Amino acid sequence: MKLTERQEQIIAIVKDRGPIIGDDIAGSLELARGTIRNDLSVLTMLGYLDARPKVGYYYKGKPELVRIRDVLDSIKVEDIMSVPVVQDEKASVYDVICTIFLENIGTVFITRCGEIVGCVSRKDLLRSAIGTADLEKTPISMIMTRMPNIISVGPEDSIYEACIKIEQGEIDALPVLSGEKDLKVVGRITKTNINRLMVDLGGDDVQ
Ligand code: ADP
Repeated sequence: MKLTERQEQIIAIVKDRGPIIGDDIAGSLELARGTIRNDLSVLTMLGYLDARPKVGYYYKGKPELVRIRDVLDSIKVEDIMSVPVVQDEKASVYDVICTIFLENIGTVFITRCGEIVGCVSRKDLLRSAIGTADLEKTPISMIMTRMPNIISVGPEDSIYEACIKIEQGEIDALPVLSGEKDLKVVGRITKTNINRLMVDLGGDDVQ
């Protein structure tokens, strides 16, 4: 937010003579106290000034204004992605159910000769567990969401792009693919990665 000329003048006065009461700031500017009331509130709210009762205003320093969007644009998918968990399309539904428990994950990417052909979520597996007679004989390829409907990101994409895809696709996880033609799964981004990033960005006071 750009400050007005008068707000800049107020900052200069407080920097020079603080702590200083509002009446004296107004006097220096040859203005009535009421005229600068709003400016003082704005500068206090933005973090330039602070006020102590009976002492007056003092200068706190230039507040660091960081746009969250700039932070999310500057972090790449490869900076926070996890190791992918994949299973071959010939695996059974039963095998994949075992995998989500063993690996403690929610989405498994399904591959053929190392390249992604589909994915399955917890609810896909639950649905087939309710409706399918023999889970050990049913290949996972029967129930998976298939290419080209898989929403993915690349390692160099920004976290912001990943967040948008998760949001718009209404999904929990994205495979990270090495290239648009090369469909090798090199990582995975989930809501857990994003949440961990938020905790890290939140600072040191969160343990
Ligand atoms: P759940 O179904 O357990 O709530 P999701 O919300 O992630 O988990 O999945 C919803 C549906 O979207 C499922 O049918 C799943 O196969 C599919 N899906 C999950 N991840 C992706 C993805 N990256 N691209 C396309 N479809 C996906």
